Amino acid sequence: MELLYYPQYCEAAVLSSVILLIIYYLRQNYNTVKNKLFLSMIVINLVASIVNICSVYTITYTDRFSLRFNYFINELYLILYNVLAIIFLLYIVSFFKIKFYQNCVYYFAVCIFIFEAIIIFTTHITHFVFYFDSRSNYFQGPGMWLLYVCAFSCVIIANVIVIKVRKTFNKYQVLSLTGFTIGLLVSIIVQLFIPKYLITNFTLSMVLFFLYSSLENPVYYLFNTTQCFNQQAFVQTIRSNSEKGKFYKVVAIKPMDYAYFEYTMGQRNSEMLSNKIAERLNMSFKRDAYALTKSEFAVIIPDDTNTNEFLTRVDECFSEKFVIQIDDKVIEQEVEVQVAIIPVINLEIDGLELEEVIHNLTFENGKRLLVLEDMEAVIEKIHRSNRITQVLERAIKEDGFQIYYQPIYDAEADTFHGAEALLRLIDNDLGFIGPDEFIPVAEKNGQIIEIGDMVLRKVCEFIKESGCLELGIEYIDVNLSPIQCRYEKLAEKYLSIIRSYGIDTKCVNLEITETAETEFLTVRILKNIMESMVQHGVGFSIDDYGSGFATIDYLLEFPAEIVKIDKSILWQAMEREDAMIVLEYTIKLLKAIGKKIVVEGVENEEMKKILLDFGCDYLQGYLYSKPIPEADFIAFLEKENVRA
Ligand code: C2E
Ligand code: CA
Ligand code: CA
Repeated sequence: MELLYYPQYCEAAVLSSVILLIIYYLRQNYNTVKNKLFLSMIVINLVASIVNICSVYTITYTDRFSLRFNYFINELYLILYNVLAIIFLLYIVSFFKIKFYQNCVYYFAVCIFIFEAIIIFTTHITHFVFYFDSRSNYFQGPGMWLLYVCAFSCVIIANVIVIKVRKTFNKYQVLSLTGFTIGLLVSIIVQLFIPKYLITNFTLSMVLFFLYSSLENPVYYLFNTTQCFNQQAFVQTIRSNSEKGKFYKVVAIKPMDYAYFEYTMGQRNSEMLSNKIAERLNMSFKRDAYALTKSEFAVIIPDDTNTNEFLTRVDECFSEKFVIQIDDKVIEQEVEVQVAIIPVINLEIDGLELEEVIHNLTFENGKRLLVLEDMEAVIEKIHRSNRITQVLERAIKEDGFQIYYQPIYDAEADTFHGAEALLRLIDNDLGFIGPDEFIPVAEKNGQIIEIGDMVLRKVCEFIKESGCLELGIEYIDVNLSPIQCRYEKLAEKYLSIIRSYGIDTKCVNLEITETAETEFLTVRILKNIMESMVQHGVGFSIDDYGSGFATIDYLLEFPAEIVKIDKSILWQAMEREDAMIVLEYTIKLLKAIGKKIVVEGVENEEMKKILLDFGCDYLQGYLYSKPIPEADFIAFLEKENVRA
């Protein structure tokens, strides 16, 4: 007798499921709830396919099998098939962060399962879902549609979640996740019209292959070509740690001067170094080590680990040099690291947030060890800085910045010969945000490049249109962030912007502050940039001199005519005698090497008198004026300079 259904597709499904299982086992290395759910989908699909093949035979050869057995086989198939939809939903929800919704979905899934199990496994008595007539022909029962509704509600909820968390996936992953629904729909339609073709299991096994390659491939959890786990794996581990309710510590390891390696070796070679570091950590700490980015590594350790012993192990790990091959040369590179211990006792924390915390660690000047006690404060700061990033994004798009000008007083001429352009940002929601807060954020996320260009354009336009030159202004100071100077073509860009307004390049003076982070850049790139701009008439000031990082090196190396002494130096001098001596001799030293000197933060007559006695050239501060809007600044010049 000919078979009533074609089992070939089910056989293909068995074969492909077995292959997938073998691949999964051979390459398996990462183990979470999520992965277990995926594994169970393969297994259930495999068993369902086998049961489906059996049912083809039991339905065709009813005389050889008892009716009871036939019922059992079909009940078993239906439950497996429907459980697959439930597990798919659970699998999807395991990507979802919010515990409350996760729990809701768990309860929903359990209820659906119980309901399905009851109506399916009583079918041989009730004939509710399917039944056999007296000649043992298979028919769908009046309750079959309920199973469709259950399966589809699982799949629909799963899709809603995929849409909600789509940002955590790339396009290929979203496609493979929606593939499950599409596959299910297509096979149901095909089977509705051509019931002989049992293609559902085969389609599902193909979809599982697709999911495997996009979401479950172990390579997906490994850093570059190494065996060390990557950032994805880190996020998963943090999630499952939270689920287990265990406290733990994250040890963040950052090579010092990674930017320097990148600069001297180039991107590709420094990445090779990162891979070597990842491999070394993997050797030492096995599955607990993670490479989050090329310059950030982490080890997750139990809460009760002895920290000192652990730190010794980290030291040992980096005691030997790293050997990398660059072209024909073999380079031995020593790597020093900064280590931060982050105790995690707030289990609500998400892997991505922890990653941000690691990203935002600030080690005190030169320190190599940090124990992060108050993680909440850091997270708070990250949230605020994310908000500011959005506000900046909007301000850049909608031209929401304003430039204020603070006059600079020329003591010898007794007029205001210059002004500093200072950015102002007022947001509808957050209100006034000071540049001291938003500039560092913009520097971190790169928005400073656009903002810097915008400031220069606005200043040039102001110089051209406002008539300030006729009112005695010789130049406007524009702040230049060291981050902007990483872009080697900055000089050309800035010169062409200035020229495009048809103003003299001498009208713009750039203020540059040095920070520790960019120290290695200073000598080479910065000097090049400054030299080529000075050649074309643009002047430079060294800003914030005396506060932190500016060293004698800068004074000698950089072609800056003006040095701005930081206001903190002046203010300290007003409090302490020794600081006054420092101020006096700093001015003397700078004058002796031929620099012009600005002191900022001049707030009263007493300060002014002292500074003039010391021979300071220019003064800037609230004594004369706060930074003020364009129109006020012009009015100020009309009053002060015209009078003079
Ligand atoms: P800065 O370059 O050191 O600018 C001088 C700061 O000192 C300004 O703060 C100014 O308002 C303040 N100031 C001047 N005189 C006095 C005084 O007598 N008393 C007091 N208490 N303060 C005085 P502001 O405008 O808040 O700017 C803060 C910082 O933000 C600036 O420090 C600068 O580093 C940065 N910044 C502002 N605008 C820009 C910009 O367009 N680009 C870049 N890259 N940074 C900017
Ligand atoms: Ca400045
Ligand atoms: Ca300054």
